[in-house]
Amino acid sequence: MKDKDNNIKDITPNSMRLKNLSKAHFSNQSSECHPKVFIKTFGCQMNDYDSEILRGILRKRGFVVSGDLESADIVLFNTCSVREHAERRVYGQIASLAHGKGQMTNGKMIGLVGCMAQAHKEKILKDLPYVDLVCGPQHIYQIPDYLEDIILNKKKIVAVDEKQRPADRENHDFRDETKRIKAYVTIMEGCNNFCSYCIVPYVRGREKSRPPELIIKEITSLLKRGIKEITLLGQNVNSYGKDIAGGYSFCDLLKKIDAIGDLRRLRFVTSHPKDAEEEMFRAMAKLPTICESLHLPVQSGSDRILKCMNRKYSKDDYLRKIELLRKIVPGCSLSTDIIVGYPGETDEDFRQTVEIIKQVRYDTAYIFKYSPRPLTRAAGLEDDVPQSVKEERNQELLNLQKKIVRCNNEKYRNKELGVLVESASDKDEKFLVGRSRTGKMVVFEGPRELIGKIIGVRVGEVNTSTLSGEWARL
Ligand code: SF4
Repeated sequence: MKDKDNNIKDITPNSMRLKNLSKAHFSNQSSECHPKVFIKTFGCQMNDYDSEILRGILRKRGFVVSGDLESADIVLFNTCSVREHAERRVYGQIASLAHGKGQMTNGKMIGLVGCMAQAHKEKILKDLPYVDLVCGPQHIYQIPDYLEDIILNKKKIVAVDEKQRPADRENHDFRDETKRIKAYVTIMEGCNNFCSYCIVPYVRGREKSRPPELIIKEITSLLKRGIKEITLLGQNVNSYGKDIAGGYSFCDLLKKIDAIGDLRRLRFVTSHPKDAEEEMFRAMAKLPTICESLHLPVQSGSDRILKCMNRKYSKDDYLRKIELLRKIVPGCSLSTDIIVGYPGETDEDFRQTVEIIKQVRYDTAYIFKYSPRPLTRAAGLEDDVPQSVKEERNQELLNLQKKIVRCNNEKYRNKELGVLVESASDKDEKFLVGRSRTGKMVVFEGPRELIGKIIGVRVGEVNTSTLSGEWARL
């Protein structure tokens, strides 16, 4: 941890609060005396999870976690570095906050947490001088200490030591108490794969598995609080356990979790195509809680580009795995990530990507226009595909994918699906929203008592994003 002894703005009305803070050392639970913290999350599920843990840690220390930006004393941006676009949004929002533009007001303490902090380190204080805390993802457990230190000692803190790893922390104590149906659980941190375009290994470090007993404990605790569905998180879940002494595999973990009573549904992200093997597909088919849904990022359909990306599989390897998966887990839905406009991507390379989408017919595809990320190998290559071409390719894939999903969804018409009911619809309170095991969003009319239950819904209408139907049975 490095301390910067620059001046810090007075976070009025904290002069009174600071008095209370130092007097009470955060032991007083009265919200009158404690700073309000607002957390804004960008990026992936891993960041959602980190923000949830962070909210729990802050609450435990007596901070008031608020959903209201206006009245917050401290604003923490939990950031993502994977896309340039996300970084630009963070910079824009912090600048607006500091200058009191738009809905945001100034006079707050600002912290930049997560992958962007890790990637840009001290430079953030130069670019955004009104930021008080720069904190990499490895240090989220220390954030209450840092905030207290900043408040009491009027300093700035940059905490980006990469050696510290939080993987073996117990998180179940910090989980949000609010009643929910689904929860994420991180099973490992970091990545060893070094895909040429990806900043993750540089900001999240090398792979580190959380001990299985901590994962089981956390899931058990979540189930006791009424959680029905767990999604396991890791940059490459198939590598889980390789660093555990005595040998432990991802499938071992799946079996253990499946055996916990009360768990209704289990999902996981992300699987790397080079490591997704038959054993995992068989576990998906055999273990009743695992949903028939897999995210398998292909990134490109061109072998030449896959090689440049250091993905370590060919288009044919990938297609063979899809064929095997579909044989072992019939009806499994598939989602993917695709990058268009990687350096040197020709029209022919792009056509190969179009072809693989047509062949696999994904249920969801997250399509991104390439942008160079600092520290990565690809950042040293000329970003030579013009922006207009990236836009065109992006649009073509989006249009194609939309047609495929519309067509895929037809198979659900007049079928009854098991739906885990998640919430009332935002658009119309009479309606409820849930998901099938294959991850399809289903909307239907029904009483709120159904929330948290798995019920049968007979699908009538289908469109690109949702299926709508009638509640058939419990
Ligand atoms: S597998 Fe590749 S794309 Fe995924 S996190 Fe690791 S380096 Fe990044």
